[in-house]
Amino acid sequence: MFALNLVGNMSVTSATMDKVTFDVKRVRADFPILSRKIGKNPLTYLDNGASSQKPSIVIETIASYYRDHHANIHRGVHRLSEEATTAYEKSREQVARFLNAKEARECVFTRNTTESINLVASSWGAANLREGDEIVLSEMEHHANIVPWQLIAERTGAVIRVVPVTPEGTLRMDVFHALLSPKTRLVAITHVSNSLGTINPVREIIDAAHKAGALVLLDGAQSSAHFPIDVQALDADFFVFSSHKVCGPTGMGILYGKADILNAMPPYQSGGDMIRVVDFAGTTFREIPERFEAGTPHIAGAIALGVALDYVKALQPGAHAHEQELLRYATERLSAIPGLRIIGTAPEKVSVISFLLGSVHPLDVGTMLDADGIAVRTGHHCTMPLMKALGITGTVRASFAFYNTLEEVNRLAASLEQIRKMF
Ligand code: PLP
Repeated sequence: MFALNLVGNMSVTSATMDKVTFDVKRVRADFPILSRKIGKNPLTYLDNGASSQKPSIVIETIASYYRDHHANIHRGVHRLSEEATTAYEKSREQVARFLNAKEARECVFTRNTTESINLVASSWGAANLREGDEIVLSEMEHHANIVPWQLIAERTGAVIRVVPVTPEGTLRMDVFHALLSPKTRLVAITHVSNSLGTINPVREIIDAAHKAGALVLLDGAQSSAHFPIDVQALDADFFVFSSHKVCGPTGMGILYGKADILNAMPPYQSGGDMIRVVDFAGTTFREIPERFEAGTPHIAGAIALGVALDYVKALQPGAHAHEQELLRYATERLSAIPGLRIIGTAPEKVSVISFLLGSVHPLDVGTMLDADGIAVRTGHHCTMPLMKALGITGTVRASFAFYNTLEEVNRLAASLEQIRKMF
């Protein structure tokens, strides 16, 4: 029996738990790193928006793959190559189930969200954008969903239009609707803001964009870790996310695209594995998804991603409910600290709290929290236009995952109280 399948089918200790009463203690036991100490303090990991930690099942899958099954995929007729290929393609099906994609071939393996967006901008953008065409972005986009569009706009003569944000950190939907016109070819918008936690009204955005004749790319880098995704119900044309933020390994990403749209797109990178016939007289390319997977991929990463997604999916809906409780409690505790200002107060948020503590520089707050074993992110969070719109240069961001606890919120609040007193 193929040991990788055993790991995959072993499923998760926690996955069999009651889905509504979420047993955070039991879930934490799946993550070896969470029992680490930072100096004398227990690790309080609140930097999940940057990258999540990995459960044993993901770590074991990678080790098992390299220990017992590694060979290159799609090429060999030998046993190991067949095993690796089967596991790699099984992962594509797991990704499709995670996103509720109609077909596995609509899920392309990339390196990360950034590469997925670059792929669409370079391939779809170069083939479809003309001078004067418009791409609609928002002020709250991560740089990864701004810069690739700027580059392709420069090459094609397309124009970027930007939806502003309100002081609370929501999109100005009145402006969004007013920006749509027959010139709009693409709306590229984040599902959830990484800096503020705002959940955007993407159904409304997609419906309106489609009515205007535009496609929609959803940046799911932050949403995919926090609640179930259904690309068919959303009717998203493209949906992109990174493995490392959803308990999977680094170096893996996903580009979901509707089959007819992907099939009409030219190759992004070229080389081995994506071709049908190579001849100096002319080369022909394979269908999707292989057309977009040139060269030897991150095989172990893909296989472990599939396992990670099954793990995360099995924890819902309890995980989401638990995160919302963390958000509610952390908002209450942090709001009670004199001088602390929460940045981003949208009614619909995932478990992310950005804040400023009086006039203390976010970097100082982050450094002092680290001394207490608390990991947060500080700075502009790769959203410089958003910081500019809000009139600040950066924030401290505590981003919670389903394995965080109310006790960790207490630790964060106590540490911030101490910092406030010192300053
Ligand atoms: N988009 C959003 C909303 C993000 O939060 C991030 C990373 O923080 C990215 C894109 C880029 O992700 P990656 O660095 O994994 O490509």
